[in-house]
Amino acid sequence: MFSVTDLSTYLYCPRKLYLQQVLEFPEPPSEILLLGSINHAMFDKINKLDESIVSSITESTNIKELYSKTYFTLLKSILKESNLKEFSLKSLDVFHDIWPRFQEEAELRAGNVLSFIQKNNIYGKELWEKLTPKYLTEIKLYSERLELKGIIDRLELTEGSLIPYELKTGTPPRDGVWPGQKIQLISYMLLAKENMGKTVTHGFIHFIKTNENRKIILNPFSEIEVRNTITEIKEILNADNPPGILENKNKCNACSLREECYNL
Ligand code: SF4
Repeated sequence: MFSVTDLSTYLYCPRKLYLQQVLEFPEPPSEILLLGSINHAMFDKINKLDESIVSSITESTNIKELYSKTYFTLLKSILKESNLKEFSLKSLDVFHDIWPRFQEEAELRAGNVLSFIQKNNIYGKELWEKLTPKYLTEIKLYSERLELKGIIDRLELTEGSLIPYELKTGTPPRDGVWPGQKIQLISYMLLAKENMGKTVTHGFIHFIKTNENRKIILNPFSEIEVRNTITEIKEILNADNPPGILENKNKCNACSLREECYNL
């Protein structure tokens, strides 16, 4: 069984996947990985706390303030637990860099809840039970049929349908999404559809840096695309030697295994 990230690594560079899977080179720690994990931890906690936040809302609650304060406290505690010193990062600098995105997220979520309350006039537990959309996070899914497993960053649940989100800390391309991101998202859409038995028509790559959602539609050829990629991966991983070094040096310069790769 392959992980969804194997597919995106393969599309980034087949040699990198070979180094990871066949030669078992570990991913070295990096500042980008650390900042990515802080962002992911924030979204994970936000989604897990949503039920208690929503259930605590009464007629007199200042919802905007409640979300903003909760997210502020969460970020402070995550930064406290993160190993920022390893990369000589200062907590305050990272906070100033990351906070505006989560402040915006807090305002967005508060706005959603507020407009639902204005339409339905319900509070507390009942509000949580009836509120749509709801969010699930870090959902583990697998499929024997597709030979695929993965963990979806975020699922938006509305009545009868699911919308997967893959969160990215890197820079978005000018248009659309990078090929590895597309295969990741369509894989998650197929896994979510099969595992959760709900309608999945599209998903989003969410670029944290620019707070942008880029949409990918699930179409009848999506599964073929995933299956073909898995077939190509099997061929690469069964070969006696790794594939050659990429000609695209921009990719190599951004690659976490560059040193190991070039010294092989
Ligand atoms: S350095 Fe370049 S060729 Fe080597 S694994 Fe990374 S992306 Fe691939």
